[in-house]
Amino acid sequence: MLYPLYGLILLTATLIITLFFQERFEQQLKSLEFQFLQTALHIDQMLSMTEHHVLLMRASLSNASAPYGTGLPQMHYHEEWNGFSVDLVVPTDEGPYKEHLTGAGHFDTRDPDLLRDFLTALTAAPLLADTRRDIPDATWVYYLSKRQFVLAAPWTDPTEFHFSPTFYDLPFYQLGTPEKNPSRRLYWTDTYLDEYGQGQMVTLGAPVYVNDEFQGIVAIDLTLKNLREYLLKLHPAKTNLMISNGQQQVLAQAGSTENTDNQIIYVHDILPAGLDETDVNTVLDRSGTSKLKGQIILNHSLKAAPWNLVAFIDESSLKWNVLFNMKTEFILLILLGMSIILVEYNRRTHRALHKSEQRFREMTDLLPEIIFESNGNGRITFMNLTGLTRLGYSRSSLEHGIYQKDLYYRVETVSPLPSSLLPENRNVEYKVQCSDGTTFPALLRTSPIEEGNIVKGERGILIDISKIKTFQSKLETLAITDPLTGCYNHRMFIELANKEFTRNQRNRRVSCLLMLDLDYFKRINDNWGHQAGDDALIHFVNQCRKNLREGDILGRMGGEEFAILMPDTDLEDAELVADRIRTMLENNPVAYAGTRIPLTVSIGIAEVTSEGIEIALSHADEALYEAKHQGRNRVISWMS
Ligand code: GH3
Ligand code: MG
Ligand code: MG
Repeated sequence: MLYPLYGLILLTATLIITLFFQERFEQQLKSLEFQFLQTALHIDQMLSMTEHHVLLMRASLSNASAPYGTGLPQMHYHEEWNGFSVDLVVPTDEGPYKEHLTGAGHFDTRDPDLLRDFLTALTAAPLLADTRRDIPDATWVYYLSKRQFVLAAPWTDPTEFHFSPTFYDLPFYQLGTPEKNPSRRLYWTDTYLDEYGQGQMVTLGAPVYVNDEFQGIVAIDLTLKNLREYLLKLHPAKTNLMISNGQQQVLAQAGSTENTDNQIIYVHDILPAGLDETDVNTVLDRSGTSKLKGQIILNHSLKAAPWNLVAFIDESSLKWNVLFNMKTEFILLILLGMSIILVEYNRRTHRALHKSEQRFREMTDLLPEIIFESNGNGRITFMNLTGLTRLGYSRSSLEHGIYQKDLYYRVETVSPLPSSLLPENRNVEYKVQCSDGTTFPALLRTSPIEEGNIVKGERGILIDISKIKTFQSKLETLAITDPLTGCYNHRMFIELANKEFTRNQRNRRVSCLLMLDLDYFKRINDNWGHQAGDDALIHFVNQCRKNLREGDILGRMGGEEFAILMPDTDLEDAELVADRIRTMLENNPVAYAGTRIPLTVSIGIAEVTSEGIEIALSHADEALYEAKHQGRNRVISWMS
């Protein structure tokens, strides 16, 4: 019944987590895009600053109105490379800054154009220092005059770096010439290898004109190494991020450990797995965020240079990353699942337990015995229906408290039941008390309820033996009495008489034995029927009992023949009692079917001698025979 509910809960939870994931993924991507654009902005700022400084230097060099001091600075001639050099020390806020100016041959002070150009360059020297300060990533800042000299910062030993006419053939100069750059715009070179050991670099240059005449170029060199370090500073090497130029050359790359200082790397060389050379154009053409072959590509055209900032993000690893960061949600999901399992397990166990308990209850209700359980205080905690019904309780009365001590108590007599009838030979009898106060006999069997080694209560069975006992006493009576008259039967009479004889012998007392035989009894049967005969026998026994004492033993010896043992009685007394019986019977005829049937008895008496009961019986029999012989309805004592 609950499964659909659990399913629904789990489905909803999964759905929520999926939505969470989607949301987190979008967020992550947005944050990467944001970081990317920030990086682009920073690069653009740095490049704008570079541009700004190039323009500033150009403006300064284009304006020749401010001459440098009065005299010329000291110049050194270098024979080994046939050139001159000037060391310049520019005062700045951070202290003196060294630059130098080198040129070909001897400085010709007579050339007015050269002199003007030279002095203008010296005027611009502080700007070079400013540029170096503002753009620490700038490797070289310089003015290369078409008049065979170069002003450069920072200062380098002139034997290592000095003017060379080969400079005019290189792109950083060529791109500024009136032929190549008639519109006099700023330009960025492609990447090239620095001749002075700084590795791959790019140059931002601007042509300088004075009075519409080309003078040379101002330029700032940025090494790719610096560019990469700058990129890494902005954007730790987590994503594959690069700056590429229009020739698809990689100017800087974060996320790669490859050393790109001395060789030109192209975008297609470092494409992530899955993307090939033909994809490069597609990648670089698409501005903004796009997806291609499992890669998320961020592409942004920089403003301050004809360059692109490109980032490749592996979509699946980003997703894994997001997933990995969703630990809390997953733990919650697992916890939810686990609690559902636990609840379900608990529910099932409960149901099974309930079923089992019910079955047990129903089974115990079927048993004829009283089954109960009690706790440590002897309070009844469970009783089967049989017990409750037998004792007159309801299930709810158990809640009000019934205690074992009020329920049954031990009867200190040993049950006379044969032990074969009892469970495990236990024949201690208990009396069980019902709610209405009545009791019944029972047998009890208990066993302790243990938890560990601690007894927590007791479990018991009470077997109602009242029916067995009634039956048993019936059996007993049947075994020893005559069913018609209720007096002892022959066997029992002999047994009791013998017991009495033994006792009397010990006490030296006199006992008498009477044999009684009804007279002409056959006739009663013949004349009035068998029932009348039976009634007559009962009537006779009643008459006898009226005359007997408590200790006297009356037995039916067979047919209409009886015997009486009178302990502590001598012959004289016995004769008196016998005669009283005889007279009473004579005077009280049997009442039967509205008539009265006369009945008499003949009695023979003998004293019980030390010879025993059997001898006394035969003596009494002899006396009885004599009484019959003499005419019946009389008492005769045996005389030796
Ligand atoms: P007597 O005076 O010589 O003793 O004569 P009697 O008829 O009493 O003696 P007898 O021995 O000839 O007959 C005894 C009769 O008692 C025979 C039998 O039918 C009857 N009788 C014995 N037991 C019972 C009994 O339990 N019920 C009835 N109705 N009759 C019985
Ligand atoms: Mg007889
Ligand atoms: Mg008789």
